[in-house]
Amino acid sequence: MGSATALDELIQRIGLNRQEIHQRRNLLDWQSSDADCLNAAADSVSSIQQAFTERLYQHLERFPGPASLISNASTLQRLKHSQQAYYQRLWRGPYDADYVASRLRIGLVHQLAGIELKWYLAGYRLYLDEILTALFDGHPNQAMYASLLKAVFFDMTLAIDTYSAAQRKALEDSEARFARALRGANDGVWDWHLGHDRLYVSTRWAAMLGLDRDSLGESSASWLNRVHPDDLPALRQAIEAHRSGNSPLLHHEYRIRCSNGDYLWVLARGVVETDASGQQRIAGSQSDISARKAIEQQLLHAARHDPLTGLGNRLRLDELLPQALQQLNHSGAREAALLFIDLDRFKLINDSLGHNCGDQVLIEVSRRLTHCLRPGDHLCRFGGDEFVVLLTDLACTEDAEQVAQRMLDSLHLPLHLAGQTLVISASIGITALQPSDASQDALQAADLALYQAKQAGKAQFARFSEELQVNAHYQLELQSALSQALARDEFVLHFQPILCIEQHSTRIVGVEALLRWQRGTTLVPPLDFIASLEDSGDIVSVGDWVLSQACRQVRTWQLAGQPHLHCAVNLSSRQLLQENFVGRLSEILHDSGLAATDLILEITESQLLEDSTATLITLRALASLGVRLALDDFGTGYSSLGYLKRFPLHILKVDRSFISGAPENAELTAISRAIIGLGQSLGLEVVAEGVERADHLDFLRAQGCHMAQGYWFSRPLSATELHHQFIAAPDERCTTSTSHASLEEPTEQ
Ligand code: C2E
Ligand code: MG
Ligand code: MG
Repeated sequence: MGSATALDELIQRIGLNRQEIHQRRNLLDWQSSDADCLNAAADSVSSIQQAFTERLYQHLERFPGPASLISNASTLQRLKHSQQAYYQRLWRGPYDADYVASRLRIGLVHQLAGIELKWYLAGYRLYLDEILTALFDGHPNQAMYASLLKAVFFDMTLAIDTYSAAQRKALEDSEARFARALRGANDGVWDWHLGHDRLYVSTRWAAMLGLDRDSLGESSASWLNRVHPDDLPALRQAIEAHRSGNSPLLHHEYRIRCSNGDYLWVLARGVVETDASGQQRIAGSQSDISARKAIEQQLLHAARHDPLTGLGNRLRLDELLPQALQQLNHSGAREAALLFIDLDRFKLINDSLGHNCGDQVLIEVSRRLTHCLRPGDHLCRFGGDEFVVLLTDLACTEDAEQVAQRMLDSLHLPLHLAGQTLVISASIGITALQPSDASQDALQAADLALYQAKQAGKAQFARFSEELQVNAHYQLELQSALSQALARDEFVLHFQPILCIEQHSTRIVGVEALLRWQRGTTLVPPLDFIASLEDSGDIVSVGDWVLSQACRQVRTWQLAGQPHLHCAVNLSSRQLLQENFVGRLSEILHDSGLAATDLILEITESQLLEDSTATLITLRALASLGVRLALDDFGTGYSSLGYLKRFPLHILKVDRSFISGAPENAELTAISRAIIGLGQSLGLEVVAEGVERADHLDFLRAQGCHMAQGYWFSRPLSATELHHQFIAAPDERCTTSTSHASLEEPTEQ
């Protein structure tokens, strides 16, 4: 702003119009004679004033405030110069409007430069003192002094007015700035005197709530009574924390009721001030944060829900489960349970029908599962094809089983999708929630039960039990020890003789290699660990070891006097599906020196099922090497006659469960007879497993079965034992039917 405008504004602000100036003069009793009187003495005071100006500044320089302003020599010079001019004008006039304007301008410049009023007035007093002494020198000219005082006081009123007008303007400017900022921030403001409980709120504060400020009371109740009851305790706490100095400022979000009854999310910010008498007041702002809260809520919802099904996700479950567990601690709380659901063979749907179709299935599944629940129960999608259900308020935990069964039934209903009819199933693990459980424990328990349901054949539910847990621990331990067993050379092979039982004598024709794990002092049977090896994939390397070990051992025995002894080795499907299994087998045969025709590979029906084309190709290649293939445990699986024709099989091993029933159990006897007959008519060699008694042997002979193995002849033996009993002295052991192993005293340790 130019100084002319600033001056005009100042004149206007003080109201210095002609009339006002006139009035001020009258108040001071100013007469035209006063002007004449001063004008007449103007020349004679000139030199006094010059000397005085020097002294004035010397005096002022003794005070730090003014001293800092006049430290610069050129400024000082300028100031002294304008001071001189000022004094000249004081005596000379003319005392017109221009005089007033020039006085105001000087006041304005002084005020802007930071010259304080008190210095100005002190300078005046010094000036009068000087003039009085110098000019009148003991002979006071009363009239002149009176005129001088009038002029000086006129100037002083102008100076004081300039200063206070400038201060008022600064205050107004700052208020206007503040009001502008508030309007821009769109915030309401409040000021609460705690001692008197007087609350001031701005118009905007009230308008945010659709209220009129004047209709609000003046106590804090008009604020706090509108706060959402759930949010009030925390707000009071935040205010208290700030008042007592525990938080640097009040910063709290809460909901407040609007005139229409809706709640608005606001942020209150404020700071407390304590006055000299110890009274506190807090003042601050109120901002409407509803838009941010809405977005936060949306994000919160999105983070906790599955976009495909709209169900809660794992994060949501992480919130619900601890709540449910907490509830169980309340007295009179009813039971609660957790269900872990996993669709059976869902991968197959995804892989064969595509992910879109898979998604549709998941949506339908979530719909069906939801229908099986009561309000208050929760269904979450845990991930992929896994769902978790939280059942609360159950009369007894068995009710959870009913819900699980309902779910299984509902899922099993045919599902029509894109012109196809699908039948899906799921497995469910159930665990009853215990108040002492951690969320993780409950989930693990349900998961373990789910695993049990899957193991037991899928499409069913299973309940968690302590036993399951113990077993899982055991399996875990087993698996970690098992993974190192091969490297630690802990596997051993035992061999069970396979005998030719034609006529009345028996003769060893082969051995079946059976794997054992020497774990410390215990010899672990294969059924306890083969499945684990298959799960981990270690069966491939272990199976490789078995094959080479068995071939080498049998070759040794061939060279030791049993040239036609054949070697039977059990295979796992993972081995068969292994890339270049045939190549690896040829290598093993070559290294051991065993003829391919002396090797029998035993496979089970389930292996033939796994991937029949690939399996078929491998089996054909094996057969063309000259290796013979035996179908193990025949009768216990699908017993499909189709396999017998389709695959290049040479031997059928009748499972011991049939032989054990013969001849007293008519049904088992009939089945045994049928299997043996079937094998023979297809031109397969039939080997009977599990011959434990003399009548078993008689029965087999009567059926024309030529080969057998079982405890009656020998338990599986270590290589050394078998060597002693069957290779080194073959005539003693292998050709009589009476020298059988005792069932009561197993030879295997
Ligand atoms: P399998 O191939 O059917 O082997 C015969 C099983 O019956 C052996 O059990 C054997 O000890 C047992 N056995 C033989 N005669 C009698 C008898 O008169 N009465 C009774 N009650 N049992 C008899 P083992 O050694 O415990 O092996 C169990 C299964 O483990 C084997 O059944 C085979 O499927 C699997 N297995 C063994 N070694 C291997 C291996 O090296 N690789 C693979 N993949 N599986 C193996
Ligand atoms: Mg076998
Ligand atoms: Mg078998």
